[in-house]
Amino acid sequence: MLEKVLIANRGEIALRVLRACKELGIKTVAVYSTADKELMHIRFADEAVCIGPASAAESYLNIPAIISAAEITGANAIHPGYGFLAENADFAERVTDSGFIFIGPRAETIRLMGNKVSAIEAMKIAGVPCVPGSDGPLTDDNNEILKMGRQIGYPVIIKAASGGGGRGMRVVHQEKDLIKSISLTRSEARNAFGDDTVYMEKFLTTPRHVEIQVLADTHGNAIYLGDRDCSLQRRHQKVLEEAPAPGIPDHLRKEVGERCAKACRDIGYYGAGTFEFLYENEQFYFIEMNTRVQVEHPVTEMVTGVDIIKEQIRIASGEKLSITQDDVKIVGHSIECRINAENPKTFIPSPGTISYWHAPGGNGVRMDTHIYSGYKVPPNYDSLIGKLITYGETREIALQRMRNALEEILVEGIETNIELHEEVIMKDSGFRKGGVDIHYLEKILGLH
Ligand code: ADP
Repeated sequence: MLEKVLIANRGEIALRVLRACKELGIKTVAVYSTADKELMHIRFADEAVCIGPASAAESYLNIPAIISAAEITGANAIHPGYGFLAENADFAERVTDSGFIFIGPRAETIRLMGNKVSAIEAMKIAGVPCVPGSDGPLTDDNNEILKMGRQIGYPVIIKAASGGGGRGMRVVHQEKDLIKSISLTRSEARNAFGDDTVYMEKFLTTPRHVEIQVLADTHGNAIYLGDRDCSLQRRHQKVLEEAPAPGIPDHLRKEVGERCAKACRDIGYYGAGTFEFLYENEQFYFIEMNTRVQVEHPVTEMVTGVDIIKEQIRIASGEKLSITQDDVKIVGHSIECRINAENPKTFIPSPGTISYWHAPGGNGVRMDTHIYSGYKVPPNYDSLIGKLITYGETREIALQRMRNALEEILVEGIETNIELHEEVIMKDSGFRKGGVDIHYLEKILGLH
C-alpha cells in the first residue's frame, strides 16, 4: 500500500481524497495556492505546501511546483482529483518519470482518450456503440464533407477532437451552413486547444446523458459499477446526477456495462474511469471517456457500497480489485445536487465570505463539502462549494430526503443555487417522473 499521497487539488475533492487516505492509514500532503490557505483539508493533512499564487496556472496547474512539493515531503504518489491536471497526459508522464506513482491510468491511455477521435476509434474496435459520424477527422475536401453530411443526415454536430468542458462544438441544421460552421469550429478549436482537428457526428435531438462507472486494476480485471443519469445540465454543465439512471432496462445496462469493462481490458486501462453515453430510443451512443474520478462519483458509491477513491488508491498500489462483477449489487437510489456559489437565476458566480453554514443531516444524507462558517470562497476557481447527496431504498425516498435536506441546509453570506434545486428542480413534475433529456433543464428555465 502507498505510504504518503500528495493531493494535487483543492476544495471538496481534496477533502474527499484525504478522508480515503486516512481510512487506509496513508499519510497525506496538501498543496495549496496563496488564495487557499484556509482550505479545510489543509488542517487535517499531515503536511501542507504552498505551491504558488492564486492563479491556477501558477499553482494547481504548475507541474514543477507540484513535483517539487512531492519531492520535499517524500510523498510516493500523487492523486490529481478532477479538473486541473487530472486528464493531462504530460503531467501523468512527468509524475511517473520523477519516480512517483500517478493515481490514475497510464499517460498513454489518458492521451488516447483525451483525443475524442482516437477515443472513438478505440471504442469502435472494442465494440462500444458510438454515434454515427465521420469516423475520423474531417479533411479539407468540401465535396466529400457535404456528401458525408447528407449520409449522416441533419442536424449534425461538429466537434473538436481536443475539446472539453462543453467547448468546441457546433450544431449544423442545414447543408448550406456546413462548410462555414466547420471553419468556425476549426478556428475556435485552434485558439482554445491548439489543435484544429474536428469531426462530425449525428446530432441527437432528445438524448439523455447516461454514463457507466468502471474500475480496472493492473492485473487485467475490469468491472462496471452500474450507471448514472446526468441529464440535468445547463450549458453542458451537470447540475444534478442520480444512480441508477431511471427507466433503463436492466438488460441494456448490463450489455453496455459489459462492453465498457471489455473495452478497459482491450486498451489496458487501469484506475477508475467513466464512459459517457448519449441514450435515445433505448440505444447507447458513446461520446467520450473520462480517465479520472468524477464529481458525481458519490451516487455510485451510495448504491453499490464501493468506495471509488479507495479503489483508485488500491489499484495504484498494485493491488487487485477488492470485488468482482458478481459482487456488484445496485441497491436503492441516490441523488446528488451540486451546490454552487452563484446566483440561482443569473448563474453569475458569487464568491465571498460564508457568514453562517449549517449542514443538513439524517438518515441517507451525505454532504461532501469543504466549507465552514467564516470560510471565504475565493473568486479564482470554479464555483462548486459542495455536493449534497441523498440515498433511499427507492427513488421516491431519495427525493423526499433531498427535499428535506435542501430545506435544512443554510449557506449565508453568499448566493448559492440551492433555490434552483429546491424551488425549480424538486418541484418539477417531469423531473420527478424521471428520465428527462439533456435539454430539459434549460427548457424549464426558459433558456430555449
Ligand atoms: P465535453 O468533453 O466538452 O464535455 P462531450 O463530447 O462530452 O464534450 O459533450 C458534451 C455535451 O454535448 C453532451 O453531454 C451533450 O449534451 C452534447 N452533445 C455532444 N455530442 C452530441 C451529439 N452527437 N448529439 C447531441 N448532443 C451532443
